Amino acid sequence: MSALATVSEREIRSFDPRDGSLVGTVPVMTPPEVHETVAAAHGTAATWGALDVRDRCHALLRVRQALVDRARPIAETLSAETGKPLTDAYFEILAGATLLTYVVRVTRRALRPRRVPTGPIWGKRAWVEYAPYGVVGMISPWNYPLGIPFQVLPFAAAAGNAIVMKPSELTPITGRLIGEVFDASGHELVRVVTGEGETGEALVRSDIGKLAFTGSAATARRILAAAADNLTPVVMELGGKDPMIVTDGADVANAARSAVGATFSNAGQTCMAVERVFVTPGAYDRFVDAVLAETARIRQGPGAVDHLGPMIQAGQPERLEWVVRDAVGQGARVLTGGRPRPDLGESYFEPTVLTDVTPAMPVMQDETFGPVLPVMKVRDVEEAVQLANDCDYGLSSSVFAADRAEARAIASRLVTGGANLDDALVGSGIPALPFGGVKDSGFGRLQGEEGIREFCRVRSVVESRFPRIPPLAASMFTGNRPDPELLRRAAGVLFGTGVRNRVDALLGRR
Ligand code: NAD
Repeated sequence: MSALATVSEREIRSFDPRDGSLVGTVPVMTPPEVHETVAAAHGTAATWGALDVRDRCHALLRVRQALVDRARPIAETLSAETGKPLTDAYFEILAGATLLTYVVRVTRRALRPRRVPTGPIWGKRAWVEYAPYGVVGMISPWNYPLGIPFQVLPFAAAAGNAIVMKPSELTPITGRLIGEVFDASGHELVRVVTGEGETGEALVRSDIGKLAFTGSAATARRILAAAADNLTPVVMELGGKDPMIVTDGADVANAARSAVGATFSNAGQTCMAVERVFVTPGAYDRFVDAVLAETARIRQGPGAVDHLGPMIQAGQPERLEWVVRDAVGQGARVLTGGRPRPDLGESYFEPTVLTDVTPAMPVMQDETFGPVLPVMKVRDVEEAVQLANDCDYGLSSSVFAADRAEARAIASRLVTGGANLDDALVGSGIPALPFGGVKDSGFGRLQGEEGIREFCRVRSVVESRFPRIPPLAASMFTGNRPDPELLRRAAGVLFGTGVRNRVDALLGRR
């Protein structure tokens, strides 16, 4: 960590949501401190970005080793800051290591200059090459304090950038540990600035080449306004309200198990959690029964291997209680759950299944970000698709249908960044698949080769095949200028549709 972090006057105290115990404190860094950190990162970027891709990848393998060597303290800290069962914390570390491994394997290919045809420009050779931005800023949320930064850090670093990251104020100690892990590269590749929104805004307004933001759509709007001043490009990974569609002939047992897994894991605090399920009449009763049976098996509590931990943010159980009460007030039925569990701790909320919901209810439109699963019976597939798309968000989706053809046909009509057929959530676990949303779920892509090039400036280069031939630009003001009529006819000859039109253009008949 930079020594700058110790000079700030205010502190953030990070607590364990399971029992309110203090995990640690970090300073709130001021805007000047953030700017100094970014300036220091430019020094790292200059040496790191000049390395051969192979050397950068070797250095990232040292980061991977540091991550697995320090897995226990990182997982324990992550679990303490979020209240997640320790098992889930290790899943994040495994996901991070998987992403690092992918990056090391594909970066050379992803960044290889790409030759392109030169079209009308004769005697040239042209290609596209990828250059780092220099310093990339990252602002991250609290729900996957390691998994989400690892969707950005290895990718941006492999592309040749140094990174300045602002972790969520709810999980800053995990953020610092991530920075330390990247020090194993032998470079101060990831500098961590701690603080709240003001610190984040200072990072947006600093001398970064690009910003990667993962968080809520509301914060994204403020960030875009701040980024506009410097025209800083951004990649935005925002909230979701992912639909699942289950049709008559689907494997209802698997659909129900997936819905329960994708809605309740991480206590529903997952951007691509299933937050709305649309079921056609022939599958509805069986699906609801299977969901209830599956939900009854969930073990909720503060244990290391429990399924369902607490809400990370204070006040969330009360907010969810309101969401459920509001839905019930409008006619929804609570089949199970619906209440906080103060007997387990301050921040626990029961896994909740709602039916008789209608599309306009807040529980069907706003991001719930909690363990609440609303199930709606629809007339037919047509209505399911229409309602699935009738939402501001478009992150991911899930389809269980009678057969592959039906599932693909449905998925192709969903306005979402991703689609999981016969499953839910899994797409984001495939490092080679670009991840991101449409509409209010954001833009730009993380992961995949796209996720490496996302952190590159595209440079288009053209050179002469025959350097002795006079350059084309030099001929602009020399020699005779062609007759405009000749150019008009040339346009018709070259770009007219069909032989007749071209001949007419040549003869001046058009
Ligand atoms: P948030 O938007 O409240 O905060 C995210 C980060 O932005 C935090 O680090 C916060 O300090 C910072 N921030 C707040 N105000 C800022 C400002 N004005 N300028 C700069 N930075 C500022 O989100 P959250 O509550 O931490 O996370 C939950 C949200 O994140 C949900 O909406 C969830 O869906 C979304 N999310 C999206 C993805 C994805 O990949 N699409 C993944 C995880 C979470």
